[in-house]
Amino acid sequence: MLRPIFLTIPFIFVVALVGLAPISIASESKFSSADPLTGSRVNLETDWVGSVKVSPSLPILVLAGHADSQGLDGAGTAGEAVDLKGEEPMDLSISDELYWNLKLRDKLVSIGRNKGLNISSYDPPLRQIYDENDPRTNWSVGALHSKNGGYAFEIHFDSYGNYGFGSGLIPAISTKLNTLDESLAQHFGRYPRLFRGGLGAPKRRIRILEIGKLGGRLEEKLRDESTRDETLTQLALKIVKAIEDGLGKV
Ligand SMILES: [Zn+2]
Repeated sequence: MLRPIFLTIPFIFVVALVGLAPISIASESKFSSADPLTGSRVNLETDWVGSVKVSPSLPILVLAGHADSQGLDGAGTAGEAVDLKGEEPMDLSISDELYWNLKLRDKLVSIGRNKGLNISSYDPPLRQIYDENDPRTNWSVGALHSKNGGYAFEIHFDSYGNYGFGSGLIPAISTKLNTLDESLAQHFGRYPRLFRGGLGAPKRRIRILEIGKLGGRLEEKLRDESTRDETLTQLALKIVKAIEDGLGKV
């Protein structure tokens, strides 16, 4: 007769745990907040805030990450389609990441200029420059742009799966962070200031914008010719909105 009473107590605990489970799962997924377009966001501990006000006409320079380091250590990710699914690279002479970095850079500048942003791009004359301090590299040109009061950032796609961290802004190390940094972090995600001990670009006041992992639905939509242009447009518009918010234009 006592047995059912003893059983009742664990039963209440089980009900309570089962009842709580969906709540904790829901709050977890909200925390990591995967974007339907760009996928998972970076989820690393950091506490920087960009608060320095910038001019609405701030000159913005967009660089395609890895545009001068093909065949070298930092060539960029091959992407999930090539690495795991056995698909052909988009262009045999460059990494798939660079292929998409270039496409998105050009789409962003085109849409951004139409929307009145003071935005331009730079493309190194060679895809392989051994000396990172050569004046023709992304880093040299971006560093000079920042030194002269502009805002320079590189577009990147992150590694797929567990190799990558997800979308987000890696801010500059050696300069005060501003409202454009803050807005890009709010729209895409926020990487720690000293991510990987401080990368080459952020050390030169060049920001890195990780768009998303080059895999899954995002990569499929980019590779599918029927959705490619629209996907690039949506990505560019997401960046433009973040820039407009950061410049106080809207
Ligand atoms: Zn990259």
